[in-house]
Amino acid sequence: MDLSDTADEAAFRDDLRGWLAANLPADWGQRTPEPGRWDEDFSRAWSKRLFDAGYAGLTWPAKFGGGGKPPSFQAIYLEETARVGAPDHIGVIGLGMAGPTIIAHGTDKQKAKHLKAILSAEQIFCQGFSEPSSGSDLASLRTKAVKDGDHYVVNGQKVWSSYAHIADFCILLARTDPEAENHRALTYFLLDMKSEGVTVRPLRQITGDPEFNEIFLEEVKIPADCVLGEVGAGWRVAMTTLLHERGTLGFALTARLDVALQNLMATARRTGADADPLTRDRLAGLWIEMQGLRYTAYRSLAGLARTGVPGPEASITKLRWSETNQRLTKLALELLGPDAQLDGEDGFWSGYWQYQQLRSRGNTIEAGTSEVLRSIVAERVLGLPRSR
Ligand SMILES: Cc1cc2nc3c(=O)[nH]c(=O)nc-3n(C[C@H](O)[C@H](O)[C@H](O)COP(=O)(O)OP(=O)(O)OC[C@H]3O[C@@H](n4cnc5c(N)ncnc54)[C@H](O)[C@@H]3O)c2cc1C
Repeated sequence: MDLSDTADEAAFRDDLRGWLAANLPADWGQRTPEPGRWDEDFSRAWSKRLFDAGYAGLTWPAKFGGGGKPPSFQAIYLEETARVGAPDHIGVIGLGMAGPTIIAHGTDKQKAKHLKAILSAEQIFCQGFSEPSSGSDLASLRTKAVKDGDHYVVNGQKVWSSYAHIADFCILLARTDPEAENHRALTYFLLDMKSEGVTVRPLRQITGDPEFNEIFLEEVKIPADCVLGEVGAGWRVAMTTLLHERGTLGFALTARLDVALQNLMATARRTGADADPLTRDRLAGLWIEMQGLRYTAYRSLAGLARTGVPGPEASITKLRWSETNQRLTKLALELLGPDAQLDGEDGFWSGYWQYQQLRSRGNTIEAGTSEVLRSIVAERVLGLPRSR
């Protein structure tokens, strides 16, 4: 397989580098890494600029406002933006999950209403799948949607919903048929978060950020034309979302891991730990793991380019990335020694590594826990018998 850029890809990479250099603040490259997230206004404005320049939804069909390009262009975009530490598009869930699901299963009206608005960051989506007792076993969820004339009345609770506090819409899974088997009882809705009866309560993560939320749904009316796909086919529609969640996120995060590794090398040099043979051995081990991940991500990308759908291999990237990232951030804190106790403004790079280590704990849980991903890899990639 030839991994060098084609002439078109090289031209795209050059243009993007030029655009980033012209659009990021002049001192951007000299800044130390940012510990937390960007604020909402800055992120929305940056996302709109990405959209105006044609960099949002590169692989989405042009008729929906996307770039109509093959997945390799998205990979280049991720590599280049990670290289300079550019902010992400704020619509992570819309771009990576809700949008592709609407493209695959939506009506023309739904496509017209949501797709361009997702790209331009006018509509931010959140994901209302998990419930207090339904995470990995998603099919056991209890939120109910009962048909009443031309709308559904929804009651229930969702939890761990990232971005719900700023979201305009939610991809919501609810039970529409209490009699049917778990998988056949679910329907997928596009919920307007401003609907009456929707209450969002922020939850504070271990990092201190209120990045995810509880959503309470009390007698919420959702018009029947906001069902995505067929009534009762919510499980199949949700599988499209979950495949895209791991497929697209996996590659994005591998590009970011590369940057974290470079930051780790800089930290090793700054602390003098790069002279220690045992540290050098651990750094080399992480670099090797990084290369393995990079090529697995390329393999998954080749599958995506061939079939248009991320394959189960994407679960390998997500699994290995999240665990490698935890080891990487742990080593960084070890290198800081007693200085690792100083957080915030007093800490090295304003507590960047402390933040990364705490945030990395959630990475092995969100988008499928490591245990669940190992089962997927065992069954669907290695062809081993089902464990349950
Ligand atoms: C940072 C973060 C952001 C998130 N964002 C969202 C979001 O935006 N929207 C949303 O809907 N959800 C979100 N989630 C929820 C996430 O998808 C769930 O936490 C995850 O699916 C696990 O479900 P659970 O918490 O109910 O744990 P459980 O499923 O109860 O699992 C508990 C433990 O049992 C293990 N386990 C469960 N089943 C099996 C099995 N079959 N075999 C082996 N081990 C098993 C798990 O691996 C885990 O260790 C987020 C979570 C985090 C941490």
